[in-house]
Amino acid sequence: MEAARDQTTPSVSDREDRESRKLLSRLRDTLATPAKGQERLDRITHLIADSMGTEVCSIYLFRDPTTLELCATEGLKPEAVHQTRMKLGEGLVGRVAKTSTPVNTGDAPSEKGFRYMPETGEEIFSSFLGVPIQRLGEKLGVLVVQSKAKRQFSDDEVYALEVVAMVLAEMTELGAFVGDDEAMAALHKHPVLFRGLMGQEGACEGRVWLHEPRVVVANPVGDDPETEKARLNAAVEDLRGSVDAMLAGGEIADKAQQEILEAYRMFANSRGWLKRMEEDIDRGLSAEAAVEKEQSATRARMEQVPDPYLRERMQDLDDLSNRLLRILTGQGNDTGAEMPENPVLVARNIGPGDLLEYGRKLKGVVLEEGSVGSHAAVVARALVIPLVIQASRITTEALNGDPILVDGDQGVVHLRPEDSVAAAFRDKIAMAAAAQTRYASLRELPAVATCGTRVGLHMNAGLMADLPSLKGSGAEGVGLFRTELQFLIRNRVPQRGELAQLYARVLQAADGKRVVFRTLDIGSDKVLPYMKPQDEPNPAMGWRAIRVGLDKPGVMRMQLQALLRAAAGRPLTVMFPFIAQASEFFEARQALLDEVERERKIGHALPFKLEIGAMLETPSLAFAPKSFFETADFISIGGNDLKQFFFAADRENERVRRRYDTLDVSFLSFLGQIVERCHEAHTPLSFCGEDAGRPVEALCFAAMGLRTLSMRPASIGPVKHLIRKVSLRDLRAVIDEAMASGVQSVRPAVMEWLARQPV
Ligand code: PEP
Ligand code: MG
Repeated sequence: MEAARDQTTPSVSDREDRESRKLLSRLRDTLATPAKGQERLDRITHLIADSMGTEVCSIYLFRDPTTLELCATEGLKPEAVHQTRMKLGEGLVGRVAKTSTPVNTGDAPSEKGFRYMPETGEEIFSSFLGVPIQRLGEKLGVLVVQSKAKRQFSDDEVYALEVVAMVLAEMTELGAFVGDDEAMAALHKHPVLFRGLMGQEGACEGRVWLHEPRVVVANPVGDDPETEKARLNAAVEDLRGSVDAMLAGGEIADKAQQEILEAYRMFANSRGWLKRMEEDIDRGLSAEAAVEKEQSATRARMEQVPDPYLRERMQDLDDLSNRLLRILTGQGNDTGAEMPENPVLVARNIGPGDLLEYGRKLKGVVLEEGSVGSHAAVVARALVIPLVIQASRITTEALNGDPILVDGDQGVVHLRPEDSVAAAFRDKIAMAAAAQTRYASLRELPAVATCGTRVGLHMNAGLMADLPSLKGSGAEGVGLFRTELQFLIRNRVPQRGELAQLYARVLQAADGKRVVFRTLDIGSDKVLPYMKPQDEPNPAMGWRAIRVGLDKPGVMRMQLQALLRAAAGRPLTVMFPFIAQASEFFEARQALLDEVERERKIGHALPFKLEIGAMLETPSLAFAPKSFFETADFISIGGNDLKQFFFAADRENERVRRRYDTLDVSFLSFLGQIVERCHEAHTPLSFCGEDAGRPVEALCFAAMGLRTLSMRPASIGPVKHLIRKVSLRDLRAVIDEAMASGVQSVRPAVMEWLARQPV
């Protein structure tokens, strides 16, 4: 799209501009005249064909995300309307939609990918020009003109059709083609079901709160280009002023933020950007529509750019366009809308810092993008709010205040649900709440099985805000405190003093209960905003966690000092993540002991007890020399990583992450071997992956000999309830028998046995 534009600049003649404006105002008139959606579409194809001097004009709109349908035509056979369909990528029309780029050819039938559709009678038309109808990167359809004469359309004609397509996109958004008044009213009113992916378990009911409210452009067509240009220029001035003020204000503490603002300033001052928008206005668009047209082009390009740096800069430009739109429409982030009660945040994506700022106010989060391991997911997990990711198109559908149900367990979202769906959902939430109340009565009781075996249940945490759960859940301590979040939410490395303060507050809040601090597990996919991204083919197995800590020890040592200072006079427990061989643990441990020595020398108070442990997250460590098991004060199995490496199944890849059962015989026997090695060395062993919070899995781990489990706080009740009802000795016999019988997974045998227990 850009290429075509660049070649034409700046010679769009006044006459063409006038023609274009005339067409756009006629389009606007069709919008203003009451009519059924189909009538409008028919009128529009007629108008465009007439104005462009082509025999054919057709509008194809998406029926579903992968199917386009011919919705109106001037010049093709009328019987084909609503009959002719094609898949994304199929034929020339499908190609335009898929690539979001125009196709312009004088000889369509010999063009690669041409699909002959006899029902349309289009074989007699040689030349073809198709442009995408899209709004802010959202594909809505394709606008096509065709003619018999064998000729390529000029760049000016391509540009003119793009401007028309932009107006059609806005009209689609305004509901102009769904029908008359009652259909207009129906837009954004129907129940819609979104199937995304599970980001964090749990269910909630609430009302939509859009992180970035949609800007509605009520009028895509400008009456007078000079007025529109003046409005645009004033808005750009305003924007420049606010960026300059932010830069000059001195409140930008860190370099990364500064760089973003510099990039904003560069774009805001870019002549090319402004000039393109002015040309769009000359063609008849309103100032808002011109900004949106540029923004749509940026988003379409963003999809094609693999380079993360360039994508980030385009993201900056996208943000800037948003700001400009808000200035023009007066629809700020503070649109005056009040955050509803029980807000469910809906966003394309969100940074960890922004999400934390909303904090526990939120009942749930739904994102269009995101991955299981994204920073936002890490924060949502820490906040223990249901999260659904990859709910595509939800920001387009949802309006502030819409009722919404989020089912994090299934990765499903119901927007504006039917009453019956809402009622069933409420039952589910009520049952979960009733169960939590039941579990609350167990809070002060130990997790002792009927055979007398006691299992320590601890909780996972990552924020100061998690600590109240220590009391509420009945956890015996924090079995895993993930320290990444404090690094992820800032745009700079946190300072030692800040960290020491935070860790001290955590220990204070734990009130003598044990807290296991895991040193920074970062790198590769969990890239810190201020860390140079490493281009690694396989990040999960790349330069991460302890590998970064040992190769570039500065940050790790600073963190260790912060921990030592926080724990002065109190016990301190530190664990190193992702240890793959004994020597890594020995080296990390020595680094900590060196820091202890340093602290002693400078006269700082030391922790009165120090435990140093390792996370067993790679199968190799299970086969480490005995000296490792003897040296470690404790070992914690990071089951999420261990399982992914044991089965070679990426924990973030939806296609394989659930493929292998945790209760698979080979995995359970492997756990049994680790238990055995720790037992020989008298080294305490715990399990802190997500599986520890799944009651049946937790029960089996305990039966295999694990005596400490660490899980999210909400799981402690259900796990404790189950443990207290059964004999782990009996369960072990069931597992052993199943294993001996040659099954793949012990799950069926365990479930059958459980069904016979008084639970
Ligand atoms: C694990 O891998 O099981 C673990 C607890 O660590 P994380 O999920 O943070 O990688
Ligand atoms: Mg891990």
